[in-house]
Amino acid sequence: MAVRKTWTVVHSCGHEIEHDLSNRPADRRAGFARWLEGRECTDCWKAARDSDSAGKEEWLAAKRAEEQQAATDWAQQFDMPPLEGPHKALAWGERSRHQIVTTAYTALVTEGSWDEADWAVLEEKIRTVTRAGWWIDQRDAEATDLPELLDAATSDDLGTENPFR
Ligand SMILES: [Zn+2]
Repeated sequence: MAVRKTWTVVHSCGHEIEHDLSNRPADRRAGFARWLEGRECTDCWKAARDSDSAGKEEWLAAKRAEEQQAATDWAQQFDMPPLEGPHKALAWGERSRHQIVTTAYTALVTEGSWDEADWAVLEEKIRTVTRAGWWIDQRDAEATDLPELLDAATSDDLGTENPFR
């Protein structure tokens, strides 16, 4: 009797697919075919995976839009100047600035020993740094290092407009 190499598998999605199992050990083929029956066929599996990643991208885009809105509202509320730089860096820079500055406020003032007057001084420095790329570069920095980081900003990072309006 010839050793059986192909199995017709009815997948969980209902598709009937002929599988060549000759690359599997002969004594494992029947078991593998049963395992396949419990799964979707490759096409259905791929389609489900692609729609998952499309859903994830949509979710990420929605999350980014939400963060962007929060950053924009915050910049308006605290009179933060618009950032400067390549167009595609502006939104990212705004989100990065919002993130690190609000985290620093929590760490230094809300939970730390700074008072509002200390913060006001720092906030003026924050307003002077308008290069979007600078804020993007600080996105992974410790928020409590922000005062030091701002002191290290160079004239290239400072705005061309007078921030002290
Ligand atoms: Zn299928």
